[in-house]
Amino acid sequence: VLKVVENLGVSHVRSSDAYKTKLEAELRKLKFPYRALAEDDYEARRKDHISHFILRLAYCQSEDLRRWFLQQEMDLFRYRFNELTDSLMQKFLEHVNLSFEAIGEDLKNELAYELSVSTPGFSLSKVKEQMFYKVGLADAVDLFRARRVFIKDGFAYVPFKEIDVIVLNNYRTKLSKALALTARSLPSIQSDERLQPLLNHLSHSYVGPDYSIQKNTGKISLDQIDALSVKSFPLCMRQLHRALRDSHHLRHGGRMQYGLFLKGIGLTLEQALEFWKKEFIRGKVDADKFDKGYAYSIRHSYGKEGKRTDYTPYSCMKIIMSNPPSQGDYHGCPFRHSDPELLKQKLQSYKIPPSGITQILELVKGVHYQLACQKYFELTHDVDDIGFSLNHPNQYFTESQKLLSGGRELKKEFNNSGNFQQRNNSQESVNSSSTPTSSNAKADTELEGLEAYFTED
Ligand code: SF4
Repeated sequence: VLKVVENLGVSHVRSSDAYKTKLEAELRKLKFPYRALAEDDYEARRKDHISHFILRLAYCQSEDLRRWFLQQEMDLFRYRFNELTDSLMQKFLEHVNLSFEAIGEDLKNELAYELSVSTPGFSLSKVKEQMFYKVGLADAVDLFRARRVFIKDGFAYVPFKEIDVIVLNNYRTKLSKALALTARSLPSIQSDERLQPLLNHLSHSYVGPDYSIQKNTGKISLDQIDALSVKSFPLCMRQLHRALRDSHHLRHGGRMQYGLFLKGIGLTLEQALEFWKKEFIRGKVDADKFDKGYAYSIRHSYGKEGKRTDYTPYSCMKIIMSNPPSQGDYHGCPFRHSDPELLKQKLQSYKIPPSGITQILELVKGVHYQLACQKYFELTHDVDDIGFSLNHPNQYFTESQKLLSGGRELKKEFNNSGNFQQRNNSQESVNSSSTPTSSNAKADTELEGLEAYFTED
């Protein structure tokens, strides 16, 4: 739900009718109980409260997460509050102890002229119709700053229709404090073994298609990769590909991120071995060292060694939230991990127009990294609206290919969810120019996890 709120908040004006209509439709689709208060649905409210508090726990863990969560919760709250009837709003205000004092008719008549000239959109007759609240200045800073209220003796006189600004301010302050407090108590909460796994993964969990290899092998040939990296790779993978071509090497984090992505776009195991070997032996690694040090780990990532786990490509959240790159690394998400000035230079070198770069940098500043990536997609594919919510680098690739082929050729291979359709079980490579180089010899030791294999830099 919050992801949808984020998406719409960036692509629409929040107070517009289009925003409200789209948000309502999305909330309905997700079966979110956004009218639980209006419908007096206790069970739905209870679930909503529980999920909110679980998310508080998961999203209090870093400054980035807190900021993101606060922004989306505020937008969702604004929408829900404004959907209430006047009487429900009043009931809500009392319930949360924000029962501001409505001024009496005598005082309103006495101040009618001042209220009318100080409150935009309020004629004298409208002042008479509407209720005004006497609110302490500290609670009405935003309205005061925007010169939208009458001020007298340290109080703002706020019309009922503007009360949402006050309520939102109050909510922001409370939620922000609550998140800071929750963060402080995290160490004790994390020692609870029932909660720990949930909290560790919730903020970067991914529930979309897994883009795993069995479904989509053999549609890409190795000599297509350079061109594809420019046309259809997201920036993170384009950066990794360039770094690999330039230095003939990638460190651990880069090999993991890029290797699994390539597996997800359809490289067979044989192709992967050939691809990495060809590149590495152009650098400092000789063929023998490659076979001993790297080939096993590639087979492992394809589920052919060790525990035979079929590893899936990383989602955006995983890339953004875990294992930040350090000096000499090229993995990570450039929108999250690059210095804005370097990102700007990179985008310029990729011929992104200046206005597009400004938009992308604004989104990055607002910590909307995936939306910045969506904007990059729109600009590089010359479309106005990306038409999907980006969660995965392989989804970026799939959607790009669909778009570039006019949705025709690849329709045969991709299903609607973004995965390739199941082919028969053979691992034949239709376009592949690969020559298998892997040895079938079993490695001496059985190691537990793939990451353990990628320790060699
Ligand atoms: Fe890659 Fe996702 Fe970042 Fe885009 S948002 S660059 S796909 S990690």
